[in-house]
Amino acid sequence: MKRKSGLFVLMAASALALSCGSGAPADPFAGTLVDLSHAYDEQTVFWPTAEGFKLEKVAEGMTPGGYYYAANNFSTAEHGGTHLDAPVHFAEGRNTADRIPLEQLMGAGVLLDVSEKCARDADYQVSVEDFAAWEREHGRLPDGSILLLRTGFGRRWPDRRAYMGTDERGAEAVAKLHFPGLHPDAARWLVGERRIKAVGLDTPSIDYGQSKLFESHRVLFERDVPAFENLANLERLPARGFHVVALPMKIRGGSGGPLRAVAIVRND
Ligand SMILES: [Zn+2]
Repeated sequence: MKRKSGLFVLMAASALALSCGSGAPADPFAGTLVDLSHAYDEQTVFWPTAEGFKLEKVAEGMTPGGYYYAANNFSTAEHGGTHLDAPVHFAEGRNTADRIPLEQLMGAGVLLDVSEKCARDADYQVSVEDFAAWEREHGRLPDGSILLLRTGFGRRWPDRRAYMGTDERGAEAVAKLHFPGLHPDAARWLVGERRIKAVGLDTPSIDYGQSKLFESHRVLFERDVPAFENLANLERLPARGFHVVALPMKIRGGSGGPLRAVAIVRND
């Protein structure tokens, strides 16, 4: 009896050693990496009233010292391209870009695909019923997940007219914006009935283009749930089975900022 249990322990130990390979820790980034950020350049889509991205060359070429050297200056509005909306963007006293806890910017991801509805209706707003349908198929939205909404509009980037309804600039252009977003009732349901870390989508704003009061921004941000906007490549993600790492530029006191986001999709 004693010998048998000793043997069992030995077998269990060797199985453990096998599963851990050579003793190296498991690769936390194992899987397919998907870049969720668009590049910043002169095409980058910004809100009609925002300053666009500017890159100013400072140096490029061989120096008198015989080595190559390149450097640039850049300037950008916080809210353009693939970017973070920090809660303080629409909620006084809530987290600024630098104060959002890192654990809120990383975690298991879930994807809700509403691209068919949005293809038929550029003013579509993701509803509570859309989430109910997702949950009937995939189970309850896990606590602590990062929720991504795929409207399909990311594929229209950077054609402003197709992506946001207008390529005009200035205050008058804002009324001509048409793109999908999250319905305020759905935002209220998410913060009231579920516990998500953050919400992201592939349009310029978490509220749809025709929004006047930005209610979904206000509902989410009041509860310190940040948003990721203008995400790329959401068509490459499954409904679940991936992780998101979304790290914004750490602007002290910032209401948002440029965001490099990636997904790690499990291959099993
Ligand atoms: Zn924003």
